[in-house]
Amino acid sequence: MIEMFQEWYDNRHEYVKNWKEKNGGKVMGYFCTYVPEEILCAADILPVRILGSHEPQDVTEPHIFGMFCPFCRDCLAQGLKGRYDYLDGIMIAQSCLHIRQAFTSWQLHIPIEYSYYMTTPHHIQSPRALPYLTGELKEFQKSIEEWTGKPITENDLDRGIETVNKNRRLMKQIYEMRKGDNPPLTGLEAMYMVVSSQMIDKEEHNRIHEETLNELQNRTLDRPAGERLMILGSEDDDTEFLSMVESLGATFVVDDHCTGSRYFWNEVTPNENRLEAIAARYINRPACPSKDWPERTRLPHMLNLAKEYGVQGAILIQQKFCDPHELDIPAIKKLFEENDIPTLFLEFDVTVPVGQFQVRVEAFLEMLREEDLF
Ligand code: SF4
Repeated sequence: MIEMFQEWYDNRHEYVKNWKEKNGGKVMGYFCTYVPEEILCAADILPVRILGSHEPQDVTEPHIFGMFCPFCRDCLAQGLKGRYDYLDGIMIAQSCLHIRQAFTSWQLHIPIEYSYYMTTPHHIQSPRALPYLTGELKEFQKSIEEWTGKPITENDLDRGIETVNKNRRLMKQIYEMRKGDNPPLTGLEAMYMVVSSQMIDKEEHNRIHEETLNELQNRTLDRPAGERLMILGSEDDDTEFLSMVESLGATFVVDDHCTGSRYFWNEVTPNENRLEAIAARYINRPACPSKDWPERTRLPHMLNLAKEYGVQGAILIQQKFCDPHELDIPAIKKLFEENDIPTLFLEFDVTVPVGQFQVRVEAFLEMLREEDLF
């Protein structure tokens, strides 16, 4: 069943088109994982995260500055090329400047029935963030109700919360299995699992998840785990890179990415005021660096993950020109190295030079192996 996650990832557009045909529902393309999927699920709308395709492109140049991160340019390119022509709406929860530019360019240049910019506070640590975001969610709910012509009841919200929570819980259980000496899945498989959950009907994803969880109880990799690695940094669904690293005999056992643990780490704690409960979840989730100030909560969180998962080395990646992660990386590098976790920094673009990176990763693994001997 675990293969299903890759199949979904590879055939994401066909999946959504079939879903629409079968269910007749609306599809919302979204740009940032601060988007409250609970409300979309409550309204029977399919949330689909907009991602790039990792192919070189030349269509975004007139619309978005070349010094914006390759990920957001790749996302916009998908819209300009018509790959997401099945979307009924697009939305963003306010995040970094780069992805906001991709969203507003999409709004301007690609015809779409509905679009919504949800103001999510950057100063998430302010005591005013919770009432503010709760109010924003209320406005958003109203807008969705007007668009679909259908009220969202408290029961609908409970169902939306439980469906998304269950998805998070299942992914966390599978991540838990990666703590052992012989993780039953690779980092690449874990990435397929999380990224596919950002584009597949959550109830269907949950069903496959439950079967996968059972299957993994008796599964072992067909090779030793090798060096236990963590990968962290900017947005990353670069499956080719993960596959290359793991082909060298190492295994990614954990990550800190919005396409990984950061997406699902905490649940909504149910509360009478459903919207406030949802808002609290997004405020308390492991933060994106664009929202992690004045206190840097990400640093101890990432170090804890590294320790809990027995990480021997960390690969820090940054999408070229990604300011939020660029600011974070020196502090992470220092903290990890002070805690005897060596790091390797790599800068990603739309396509990565796999051959060159392989040489650097081989040297890094060699160093970890030597350290292990002493
Ligand atoms: S946080 Fe970084 S990788 Fe993500 S959209 Fe912004 S600039 Fe790009």
